[in-house]
Amino acid sequence: MTSDALLRLEGVVKRFGPFTALHGVDLDIREGEFFTIVGPSGSGKSTMIRLLVGMDEISDGAIWLHGNRIDETPANERPTCMVFQSLALFPHMSVGQNIEFPLKLRKVAPVERKTRALELLDLLRLPRDYYNKRISQCSGGERQRVALARALAFDPEILFFDEPLSALDYRLRKTLEKELKDLHHRTGKTFVYITHSLEEAMVMSDRIAIMKDGRFEQIAVADEIYSRPVSRFVAEFMGEVNLFDVTSTRGALTGKGLTVDPGIRQTTLAEGEKGLLMVRPEYVRFGKAGESFDYEISGRLLEEYALGSRIQYEIEAAGGQVITVEKLREDRTTAKLGSDVTLGFDAANTHLIVER
Ligand code: ATP
Repeated sequence: MTSDALLRLEGVVKRFGPFTALHGVDLDIREGEFFTIVGPSGSGKSTMIRLLVGMDEISDGAIWLHGNRIDETPANERPTCMVFQSLALFPHMSVGQNIEFPLKLRKVAPVERKTRALELLDLLRLPRDYYNKRISQCSGGERQRVALARALAFDPEILFFDEPLSALDYRLRKTLEKELKDLHHRTGKTFVYITHSLEEAMVMSDRIAIMKDGRFEQIAVADEIYSRPVSRFVAEFMGEVNLFDVTSTRGALTGKGLTVDPGIRQTTLAEGEKGLLMVRPEYVRFGKAGESFDYEISGRLLEEYALGSRIQYEIEAAGGQVITVEKLREDRTTAKLGSDVTLGFDAANTHLIVER
């Protein structure tokens, strides 16, 4: 076991009858990191987290915490805690009673319990007089904070989060994303978070694991996953993207509708080998007279969408592919819908995906 791995999964398999939900997953989660598992519906995220907290049993493999096997340890004996989407607070109790609940279970004395509950209210930036407030009188965001305070009262080694923000409205979700990240910094705890929202994952996480069909496609920091995805699936999952089918021809890349400067060499491909050349929409430029590009495309401007501070364009390339371009509002093009345009991008802003 590597020295900085707090939680390690080794070849974890989960079968439900004839169906395999997890196919021999390996994973190391480091002490103190904010680790997010993201993937589409049905990819196995909830299954994974249920195994990690001990709500379900693995079919094969092993789970280690601090080098000790825990896959046969019952959930209530594991030093971990889960924060759910449905908050599971006790509505008839006060905020204080809810936060103190785990401490009461551990038979902590009342005075000490109250001191800790007030500290946790401070930590979650809730007013101290909320101690006596009923849960039913708290707003959605306040309840979420109380649930977090209660989870922290367990003083777990790892906090697991199963889509805790998905039921909240957009503004509150955005606020709580930042608060969670801040809480992570202030507590220094290990957070393991699952979501199908990539945006949420990007805002908060130290590292992200992209899950597909019961396997991890890629595990890396957000920036790496965004700019150097290992597969079409990851590239498309991480937001708008342009992917060109290319072939290596005498050291250069060739592709339908793509004019490549012959001086550009992206030679990680063998002669004749195929790949996907990726460029994100923000790196594609509208050409000006006399300008030359490493990669150039001619096309027709099809659509324009306002996305708040940015404008998104769709261009039908000569080869038939629809290209997405994004510009800041102040950099919007003067080209009219339906007109012919030239697009281009630099080799430095591309990434070559080889799916072997
Ligand atoms: P979502 O984002 O929709 O919650 P998920 O990524 O969390 O999806 P899981 O709930 O882990 O996905 O499910 C993974 C796969 O395992 C799905 O195909 C699901 O149908 C299957 N599955 C989960 N639980 C069971 C079960 N108890 N019995 C049979 N199949 C199950």
